[in-house]
Amino acid sequence: TRMMSADLHIEDTDIENNIRPLTLDEYIGQSTIKENLKIFIEAAKGRGEALDHVLLYGPPGLGKTTLAGVIANEMGVKLKVTAGPAIEKPGDIAAILNGLQPGDLLFIDEIHRMPRQVEEVLYSAMEDYHIDIVVGKGPTAKSIRLSLPPFTLVGATTRAGMLSSPLRDRFGIVQRLEYYSLEELMQIVERTARILGVGITTEGAREIGKCSRGTPRLANRLLKRVRDIVSIKYDSMITEETALASLKLLNIDTQGLDEIDRRILNTIWNQFKGGPVGLETLAATIGEERETLEDVYEPYLMQQGLLQRTPRGRMLTESAKNFLQIPEELR
Ligand code: ADP
Repeated sequence: TRMMSADLHIEDTDIENNIRPLTLDEYIGQSTIKENLKIFIEAAKGRGEALDHVLLYGPPGLGKTTLAGVIANEMGVKLKVTAGPAIEKPGDIAAILNGLQPGDLLFIDEIHRMPRQVEEVLYSAMEDYHIDIVVGKGPTAKSIRLSLPPFTLVGATTRAGMLSSPLRDRFGIVQRLEYYSLEELMQIVERTARILGVGITTEGAREIGKCSRGTPRLANRLLKRVRDIVSIKYDSMITEETALASLKLLNIDTQGLDEIDRRILNTIWNQFKGGPVGLETLAATIGEERETLEDVYEPYLMQQGLLQRTPRGRMLTESAKNFLQIPEELR
């Protein structure tokens, strides 16, 4: 998740680490995933084995990295973090794997962005904990087998379909993260506010939750911005009124749509008469990557009932036209 890793560095990492839940009980929402993981973790621990490899997929900011940390913590093992684009050569992944201790959890974010030769090293590593490395060049080159300690690979990607099937098939546990409900987002906002020592009412948390696009990362970020405005401008706790006023100042839409969401809807209406328009064309017109549109923006717009996928392309729904306040006679 490209946007993400960048964001993580911008956000002050101390606070970021503090607000990340460390246990399954602290991890809010995603109840099916949690129930499954609880069983798999308990079973693996009971057998004294490493947990099976886990693939987590879903839009950015829904808690994949956080969940990897939670799994490591619940398993009582160390977490090593890397990302697909950082692993360029087979030697890079060989070095990472070779540095693992028995039971360690290796988290690879954006796992779909590894080169094919790197991916191929992972196959045998995941399957029977060994890698074959070639030493030397030309006629004297030979292949050496290196055995690895048992480990757990946790991979994260925005879409499971982006992985090649040989890689995908090697994950024993595959889980999709869902957008969070308003109630869950409110719990996340209230939890983070407690950790940051920010006063907030339930109604204040509700207003922030509503604007959070179903995404904990956004909920936490909005909370921090609202906290800043409320403390400077109103010198009070975050209430319904002060939250609403701050969100308005921040130019945040109450349905949680961000500028690009709105640009997508406006573009489909203004330039393509409401659609259908092909994804490539839409991406080019908006100036976003096709993958970002498909993995980050579309899922939320569809979940909100604003966008429809048809065989001929993307179309605005009636709710989208209401949202854009398009007069009846023009539709
Ligand atoms: P991803 O890896 O899917 O992009 P992250 O794991 O980095 O997302 O989560 C983004 C932020 O949201 C982090 O600050 C994390 O603390 C918070 N967060 C994510 N999921 C949860 C959750 N289930 N409960 C509480 N906070 C969460």
